Amino acid sequence: MIKIPLSNPDITDLEKEYVLSVLSTPNLSLGPMLERFERAFAEYMGLKYAVALNSGTSGLHLAVKSLDIGPGDSVITTPFSFIASSNCILFEGAIPVFVDIDPHTLNIDPQQIEDCIKKRNSKVPKAILPVHVFGCPCEMDDIREIAERYGMYVIEDACEAIGAEYRGRKAGTFGDVAVFAFYPNKQMTTGEGGMLVTDRKEIYSLCKSLRNQGRGEDGGWLMHERLGYNYRISDINCALGLAQLERIEEILRKREKVAQTYNELLKDVEEVIIPDYPDDFRISWFVYVIRLKEDFNREDRDRILEGLRERGIGCNKYFPPIHLQPFYRGAFGYKEGDFPVTESVSSRTIALPFYNNLTEEQIAYVVETLKEIIAGG
Ligand SMILES: *Cc1c(COP(=O)(O)O)cnc(C)c1O
Repeated sequence: MIKIPLSNPDITDLEKEYVLSVLSTPNLSLGPMLERFERAFAEYMGLKYAVALNSGTSGLHLAVKSLDIGPGDSVITTPFSFIASSNCILFEGAIPVFVDIDPHTLNIDPQQIEDCIKKRNSKVPKAILPVHVFGCPCEMDDIREIAERYGMYVIEDACEAIGAEYRGRKAGTFGDVAVFAFYPNKQMTTGEGGMLVTDRKEIYSLCKSLRNQGRGEDGGWLMHERLGYNYRISDINCALGLAQLERIEEILRKREKVAQTYNELLKDVEEVIIPDYPDDFRISWFVYVIRLKEDFNREDRDRILEGLRERGIGCNKYFPPIHLQPFYRGAFGYKEGDFPVTESVSSRTIALPFYNNLTEEQIAYVVETLKEIIAGG
């Protein structure tokens, strides 16, 4: 049977060469490759500092911690995301406050952020944590304007958005701090890994210490100045990351072409809504997610997912709403109907196979199979 996975990393000889070069040095961690990767990443972003970490989740945790967000604080974020973007707030004892999304971009809706702040009668949330969902940048002008007006920090979850641009400026350069992730399904990978970026020196220094068991910059290996973690990433992973970063434009172009091919083949399929983003945004395609029209329900969608899988096509429901995850329902009493746009979108999404080297034949096969299943075949 034909098998097409949902995602697939794109590893060339360059990546292999860089990884092997590290393996013949004594520096498997905290070595020169870590510094090269961080410097290259900061340069790519046009920011002063980058801290490489063992995951995007670690980066989000340190972002929250470095802004001194803790018990008694709340942070505004989106329920339509991967769970780490709100768990990171809970890690520090603060509370995520969810705001519903825009049905086109699937990103947090700035108007509803403002409404949410106004109608709360407790203290203003300490930060906004927008997520650039599926690689489409959030409305950062509006979000920054609100944050400035109310004196809130901005933490960008850019884990799905490397290279995305909002009005000519890269996602990840708008907040006090931003985080990227390099799990193998992301646009670029380090196996496991993440990167925190900032222009603020004190955040940079603090995060480097927190990553490495709270060690100080000049202190010894067994001198711990604060409570820290082991969020280090090995130089082997950084070598993979550096090679991927050097190829990032090629990677983003390949992904854009795959997305365009899908768009072309799906645009006349009337049961399906294809991604439709503002023209002045550069999308960094993370996944290719379609939505079934309103007259399909969750059961129809799940039946289609099952049909695709039976025919060897990888697919998934990106994302189940965070507020309806069992743990959030239990801890906060969330229920269906709390965030209607998120829930409506989420019940009808299908992520189709999407990776750099997906061929036109494979895309055509996915689309034909999808059409057959929708038609009841
Ligand atoms: C991938 C991702 C993360 C972080 O993932 P890790 O697996 O910890 O690297 C965080 N937020 C979003 C929105 C993501 O897609």
